[in-house]
Amino acid sequence: MGRIPDKAAPCGVYCGACPSFEKTCWGCGSADKNQKRKSKWGCKIRSCCFDEKNLDFCIDCEDFPCNLTEKLKNSYFNQDKFQYRHEIYDNLEKIKEISVQTWVQEQQDRFKCPQCGGLILWYKYQCNECGMNFFPR
Ligand SMILES: [Zn+2]
Repeated sequence: MGRIPDKAAPCGVYCGACPSFEKTCWGCGSADKNQKRKSKWGCKIRSCCFDEKNLDFCIDCEDFPCNLTEKLKNSYFNQDKFQYRHEIYDNLEKIKEISVQTWVQEQQDRFKCPQCGGLILWYKYQCNECGMNFFPR
């Protein structure tokens, strides 16, 4: 159990729709060391927010927005498959507004396949179950 829900990342990414979630990674909120995907331990944003600043979310930081969050948000700015990065500031504002628990519930509904109820994965923006292409707005 981490300090925030497993499906939330300190930067505002929704981990619950990540292609790696529950396969090789338990989400950025998870502090469980027993997971295959190691990249998050080296994430500068995660370690800055959780370890250096002792905060839950970047938006709580006096330096927000910083070079790290700007770089993440604006990366591949013209590619729709990176929408999950482009929306992180909106997500962070929403988290502050409605609580992270409610936000996670909203995202779970948002990333639900309209055809079969399966999980829509970001990056591919495709249903994990039936393969339908879907772009949640
Ligand atoms: Zn589906």
